[in-house]
Amino acid sequence: MIKIELSKDDMEYIEKEHWKWFEAYYNMIFTSIKGSDEERFFYKEYNINTREYERVEINNKEIIRFLRYINQSSSDSEPKVLKTIIVGKLTNEKNKENSIRYVTENILKEFPQIFNEPIKKSVNSFLSSKRKILANLKDNDRNTNSAEINKVKDSMKKYFEINKDIFQVYINDIDNIDSKIEKIKLTNKNISNFSKDKFIEYKYHIDGIFYEAEKVLSSIFNYKDFINEGKDDINCWGAYKLLKKLNINTCPYCNRNYIHTYIDVDGMCRADIDHFYPKSRYPFLAVSLYNFIPSCHTCNSSFKSSVDTFLLPHIYPYEDTFGENVKFKTEPGTGEDKVGYLLGNSDKFKITLDIRDSLIKDKVENSNCTFKIEKLYDFHKDYVQEIIKKAKIYNETRINELLQQYPQLFQDRNEIIRTIFSNYIEDKELSNRPLSKLTKDILEEFNIKI
Ligand SMILES: [Zn+2]
Repeated sequence: MIKIELSKDDMEYIEKEHWKWFEAYYNMIFTSIKGSDEERFFYKEYNINTREYERVEINNKEIIRFLRYINQSSSDSEPKVLKTIIVGKLTNEKNKENSIRYVTENILKEFPQIFNEPIKKSVNSFLSSKRKILANLKDNDRNTNSAEINKVKDSMKKYFEINKDIFQVYINDIDNIDSKIEKIKLTNKNISNFSKDKFIEYKYHIDGIFYEAEKVLSSIFNYKDFINEGKDDINCWGAYKLLKKLNINTCPYCNRNYIHTYIDVDGMCRADIDHFYPKSRYPFLAVSLYNFIPSCHTCNSSFKSSVDTFLLPHIYPYEDTFGENVKFKTEPGTGEDKVGYLLGNSDKFKITLDIRDSLIKDKVENSNCTFKIEKLYDFHKDYVQEIIKKAKIYNETRINELLQQYPQLFQDRNEIIRTIFSNYIEDKELSNRPLSKLTKDILEEFNIKI
């Protein structure tokens, strides 16, 4: 997990361009007409048959109330909520109200009739993932360790606790959820029942408004059009231009794959754009700048797609990083395996994440579970074996010798280390090449001072 870091000037430029693009698009798609007695709202929907935009009136009262809500203006007549949604930071310690997190939380509390569908889906998919783990525990081990079961139950309690404010609006009897979780036992019936409606009783049973709202919102917050912008004219602000400007070389989630952007008249390629808070649950965040995470296809499509990171906290690359708090480390086997491992000859070891900060432990564990970080890094043991061998050859004395022997080749120690181990090792350069964070941490483990 590598932090996305850009200069303040670059970020301000990107925010300005993105807002300019959205404002123009919004004014084209969405109109309100003030009649004598009431205001009427319209949006434009693209008709693939006629290839033209058609004006559609919005009639649902809740959806109209929602659109009014996000159009609220501040004293300088700027649409405050809307601007926060489009170019506001995800969280904002200094100015909480101007954050996507704050706005989304309020929207969920204010519009339960619209959002009861996605909330139900998210809760059910969370419960179903826990049910699978419990069913697996039951099948694998007759004397299942109660510590393992309690770990699952604790993670469930935590999930309902951190989202209590929101869930209170949607779920009946949320105060007694802990005792319901306590009662879960490893019997077939119990396991299969606990994620159904018997376990959670939802307050709202009106379905369908979300799908109507989604239709309107995905026309207004139109991600498809955003990614198509710039395909015909490379100077237009859109996905390509944004990714080019962000200039990130490797996937911030996994640091395993390159994600370069190439734009020219002879062709184009770019990274996937992951919606940190999924647009399938929160369609009004489909074109929010700080909800976009440039990422590799594996992280975006294979793993993250349905996980609701709004309700289940994950590491967010614009603000969090593994850094000094989470390190890759090796865990050797025993006996002969250990001798081979210390010489880089054996692959009988594990690559694991060492979480040193308890405050981010849950986020790291959730990210590890979603992106399968430890499991995928297991494929890079050959790479670690080479680092171990090189660390034996290029010890402290040898590195100092090289520095003296080739003064014209190397500016400093770190440049020699970078050349020997073929990777970047300084924090600000970690996104330049795949597996740089792994390299840095393993070097530290094998006593190469950086
Ligand atoms: Zn990735």
